[in-house]
Amino acid sequence: MVMNDKSMQVWSNCLTFLKQHISESNFNTWFIPIKPIALQSNKLILEIPNTYFYEWIEEHYIHFLQKALHQEIGKNATLEYIVAPEVKKENKNSILRQTSNTKEFYTPSELISDKVSQKVNTASHLVAKYLFANFIEGKCNQLSRAAGLAIAQRPGVSSFNPFILYGGVGLGKTHLAQAIGNEIKICLPHKFVLYVSTEEFTNQFISSIKHNQVQSFVNYYLQVDTLIIDDIQFLSKKEKTQESFFHIFNRLHQANKQIIITCDQPPSELEGMQERLLSRFKWGLSTDLYTPDYATRVAIVYAKAHEQGTQLPPFIAEYMAKYADTNIRELEGVVTTVIASARLYKRKLDISIVKKVLKSLIKKKAQTSIDMPTIIKTVTDYYDISTDTLCSKSRKQNVVKARSIIMYLAKDYTKLSHRSIAEKLKRRDHSSVTYAIKRVKKELKSPQFEQTLTFLKSQLFDY
Ligand code: ADP
Ligand code: MG
Repeated sequence: MVMNDKSMQVWSNCLTFLKQHISESNFNTWFIPIKPIALQSNKLILEIPNTYFYEWIEEHYIHFLQKALHQEIGKNATLEYIVAPEVKKENKNSILRQTSNTKEFYTPSELISDKVSQKVNTASHLVAKYLFANFIEGKCNQLSRAAGLAIAQRPGVSSFNPFILYGGVGLGKTHLAQAIGNEIKICLPHKFVLYVSTEEFTNQFISSIKHNQVQSFVNYYLQVDTLIIDDIQFLSKKEKTQESFFHIFNRLHQANKQIIITCDQPPSELEGMQERLLSRFKWGLSTDLYTPDYATRVAIVYAKAHEQGTQLPPFIAEYMAKYADTNIRELEGVVTTVIASARLYKRKLDISIVKKVLKSLIKKKAQTSIDMPTIIKTVTDYYDISTDTLCSKSRKQNVVKARSIIMYLAKDYTKLSHRSIAEKLKRRDHSSVTYAIKRVKKELKSPQFEQTLTFLKSQLFDY
């Protein structure tokens, strides 16, 4: 097809109009690459670099474009798009039409089969160590694990599509999602399984826009048989990336490709996400990973130690499991640090090392969650005294003890100064706090007292 002057003129006027209505970067990205081909009565034929342009323009700029065309050609103006590479390759069937209401799209399978022949990097980016075999099962992950296994056996064909795994940090989302991917690769090695973090996906997308390679970006994803996209919450407020993900999602889903998504919260609660994307997420199955209970934590401690070639005495394993209770990453960190410290100092693995490692952890937690009223309530409940008595002048043994312990705990787990601690307990001056802390430290030499304090801490941290 030959460009004719008339089409150049019309298109140039359209561009002038468009330029006034859209941002410069969008203009440069989406309109500069377009070439006018011909004007046939009221139909302007444009050559676009790829099908993605067509969709993008249709969705975002069609109103402006229509307005411009009405001005230039008249009310019954129509547009026809030609995708540049296809024209050269096939010379037929490659025209995407958009006249009033008729549209011809490539179906996903056509697109996929058309492009598969090109050299593609089908590296999975899976981490080999994340397997079902070392994913410890517990109540906290039973349903998610079972669903994951079912998907790994029949990717794309179950109704668990998309499969959405959500839960707080360090609870095993990445591990489980990757385990599904690895399992699929083991059973169906010819499948293209792709793991990608949402951050990486976003970066790839932005870079593809910059280099005018959006179609290659999309095509790459359209070849995937199982797409694992991790931490989808990072798509929040990224409008354009959401759009492109939406297109990819739809096409993969239509072609019965498996999609696995992880998220740090229930997807329905995600803010800054397009409604249509959220509604797609409801099509499949969402399961959550909870904080592991004590029994699961013990099993995980044994397993992690075993992986590192260490057999832990039950007392030590249970102690770790009891105190490192926030998430599995933290628990794993404790096990690894304890084992490493014992090796480093060539010491027998005893409880003192564990306590040392846990201490920093517990303090860290305390700084964020424990306040003075909680300490007072925990200790006065234990000694069965009222706050009034606590703050009175009473010198009864259990009252004095409760007061000292409160001061000791407050010093360790809050940011309060000695003076403020004294004030909160209605003591005259801060030296009483200094004195009480000294006393507690001395008394800690008695195993019975240590036990009491350990119990109080466990109450305090809700262990
Ligand atoms: P998330 O992605 O939810 O933040 P990860 O999957 O990265 O959490 O898990 C954190 C660490 O805990 C990883 O090293 C992982 O191997 C381990 N982990 C999580 N869940 C389990 C489990 N059920 N069994 C064994 N290890 C686990
Ligand atoms: Mg993760």
